[in-house]
Amino acid sequence: MSEPTEPITPLSTQLIHHDYQPPDGFGSMQVGVYKASTVIFPNVAALRARDWRSRAGYTYGLHGTPTTFTLEERIATLEGGTYCSLAPSGLGAIATVNIALLKPGDELLLPDNVYGPSREMARSLLASWGITHKLYDPMDLRAYEAAFSERTKLVWIEAPGSITMEFPDLRALVRVARERGVLVAFDNTWGGGIALRPFDLGDGLAVDLCMQALTKYPSGGGDVLMGSVVTRERALNEKLLMAHMRLGTGVGANDAELVLRSLPSLELRYRAQDRTARRVAAWLRQHPVVKHVLHPALPGAPGHEHWAAHCSDAAGLFSIIVDPALPAARIDAFCDGLRRFKLGYSWAGPVSLAVPYDLKALRNAPRHDGHLVRFSIGLEAADDLIADLDQALRLLR
Ligand SMILES: *Cc1c(COP(=O)(O)O)cnc(C)c1O
Repeated sequence: MSEPTEPITPLSTQLIHHDYQPPDGFGSMQVGVYKASTVIFPNVAALRARDWRSRAGYTYGLHGTPTTFTLEERIATLEGGTYCSLAPSGLGAIATVNIALLKPGDELLLPDNVYGPSREMARSLLASWGITHKLYDPMDLRAYEAAFSERTKLVWIEAPGSITMEFPDLRALVRVARERGVLVAFDNTWGGGIALRPFDLGDGLAVDLCMQALTKYPSGGGDVLMGSVVTRERALNEKLLMAHMRLGTGVGANDAELVLRSLPSLELRYRAQDRTARRVAAWLRQHPVVKHVLHPALPGAPGHEHWAAHCSDAAGLFSIIVDPALPAARIDAFCDGLRRFKLGYSWAGPVSLAVPYDLKALRNAPRHDGHLVRFSIGLEAADDLIADLDQALRLLR
């Protein structure tokens, strides 16, 4: 019997520190799902030399992996910008921008039809840090100009605005801010990177930052939460990266992979949902109980001419206003009567959704009187959706 020449590595260690290395040269279009909190350095010198900000290498899972770096590059391309940082939700991306760029004493301008939770952030958190905000009517340029002061440091713009869907004069809003040296952040969630080019608005005008809820079109599944901020300016990107690092808002590799998997079909899905939404919106427009259809691509919709100046596409998203004389309970019965349309927030997934909103609670100065229902069109057949609306609308009469 011979003595073993080397000590046998215990199984528990072998299963962790295993010798096998898969062969190099694996080819696939899809990037791997790289997961890490810890990133392994070859030696102390490498550990000390690494700079997380340069993005030339890897330092810690929070600061990026091949999976998240790849997604960032693709989203920067989608938006027509240079640098991208990811956040764990669209609202998280909005928070990153606000925290990166504002300090006590600064003022922020938000459109009256801004994404609701963004306004709530300004009202509560930002206010408690001494950062004030003003709401501007995006359809009233004079009032918008008058809202600027020495303290104004950032303007958020949405086109169209959430839920009531007014499409502002985008170039004019951006021009006024730029003339005053105020940064412009654009929420491009509706445009999805397809309908609008926020970094190239014509007349040499561009926004400074373009944010998107990747939760919506880029994911397209109704099953991921993620946000992005894109800029063309290195100095702005540095500020965003510092805020991101200090807040610790990373995204998971599996979620990043889901968005990467959905990006190739983004344009097809956007156009398909647009087509169906316009058919459904046109059908609703001729329905006797529907007073208004708020869809920026429909002639007569608020800001339709501004939509037409920038876009030929539109998101599959619109709202209807029904007769204010109808009791609210009937609107609820209509929504409950929908079968294909499900009741739920968010949009741009495969399933069509409906949400009733109280106009008076939503706006400082509502442009319409009546009950509002917002629809998000999914990927179902248009005729099927119309038939569903037809049967549910009978409950309103
Ligand atoms: C949904 C949405 C957001 C926020 O996205 P989440 O990922 O749900 O936080 C921001 N802006 C707009 C316009 C949105 O529709």
